[in-house]
Amino acid sequence: MKNRVTLLDKSFKPFISNEQIEAAIDAVAQRINADFAGCTDVPVLLCVLNGSIIFTGELMKRLDFNCELISMKLSSYQGTESTGKVRQVMGMTGDVRGKRVIIVEDIVDTGHTIEDLVHIVRERGASEVRICTMLLKPEVYKKDIPLDYVAMEIPNDFIVGFGLDYDELGRNFKDIYVLDPEPDYHVEDKSIQTMKYYILFGPPGAGKGTQAAAMAEKYHLCHLSTGELLRKEIADGTALGLQAKALIDKGELVPDEVVEGMIENKFQSTQGVEGFLLDGFPRTTAQAKALDQMLAKRNECVTSVVSIMIPDEMIKERIRHRAAIEGRADDASDETINNRIKTYHEKTEPLVDFYQKAGKYAEIDGTGTIEEVRTQVFALLDTF
Ligand code: AMP
Repeated sequence: MKNRVTLLDKSFKPFISNEQIEAAIDAVAQRINADFAGCTDVPVLLCVLNGSIIFTGELMKRLDFNCELISMKLSSYQGTESTGKVRQVMGMTGDVRGKRVIIVEDIVDTGHTIEDLVHIVRERGASEVRICTMLLKPEVYKKDIPLDYVAMEIPNDFIVGFGLDYDELGRNFKDIYVLDPEPDYHVEDKSIQTMKYYILFGPPGAGKGTQAAAMAEKYHLCHLSTGELLRKEIADGTALGLQAKALIDKGELVPDEVVEGMIENKFQSTQGVEGFLLDGFPRTTAQAKALDQMLAKRNECVTSVVSIMIPDEMIKERIRHRAAIEGRADDASDETINNRIKTYHEKTEPLVDFYQKAGKYAEIDGTGTIEEVRTQVFALLDTF
């Protein structure tokens, strides 16, 4: 069982292990088997979708008399609150007229759903209706309808797993987890971490710098461009600038530790933003690993890589265009440009695989107009 699970904006802690659930299902199945032992009719199990799908399967496996399975879908939850209004989303998939029916529920809390279900099944002409639920919240159950088979009783908490969901997620957990309203820990999961760390990725000339300003403004991010930080060092005539200039002018990368140090300083000194937009960093696998370590120390992690891709033919065309506007020294000679493209393919491109494996890579087609690419970038960031 995991120590903790995160679904969307919520954190859940362990509650009922799979072993406990299975033991409770064994016990409830035994009682049903005893009650139906030697029956000559074919009782019907009514699986109430989607929540009780796993419980019904597990229960049915343990029943030793002939029985039918039908299902129907109702819904009363939105988010973590029971709305009290039960909607019939999918009608009953079989006939219950004259048959004994066992309604199989994952959880009974207020009892609104079960009341409606009993009513529907009786109306359809069932000869007898029994209720079997995996979980009951006795504190909130308000109805008089007897619950024939209850596998486990729980307090009035919101839970997920073993078929139960939080906004459709978590049904597949084999154990049951309970909502933790005040997690007393720092998470490394991007869905609940507070600061965002985006990496703006792509070959030289893909338009990263152009998109960065709008992204930083819209999402309140600090735009950190290692290229710009280095150009500032050069303009200020610092020792670091001097060292960097020699490499930049040849289209080579400056040493990993130099850029890593610059980024770490900026992380420490920047306050009041909702996150960082890293432009031009990381550029090597070693830098990516160093970034992971830097963020881990802060109990953070990379949110996503936003990769703007253009084909090689377009790289030179874009850089020549930029040279005419910005007059960057490293945009001036063909030799430098070619070397930058080569360096990109050799040292930076392996990061695509690195971040794809981490499930953090999202690619955007950078060949359109500035506005077209911006629309795609914003649409992507809106999902985080
Ligand atoms: P950019 O403005 O991102 O195109 O960067 C201009 C140049 O700065 C690059 O061609 C590299 O020489 C150097 N540079 C920028 N970022 C890095 C980095 N993360 N690692 C090594 N060198 C970098």
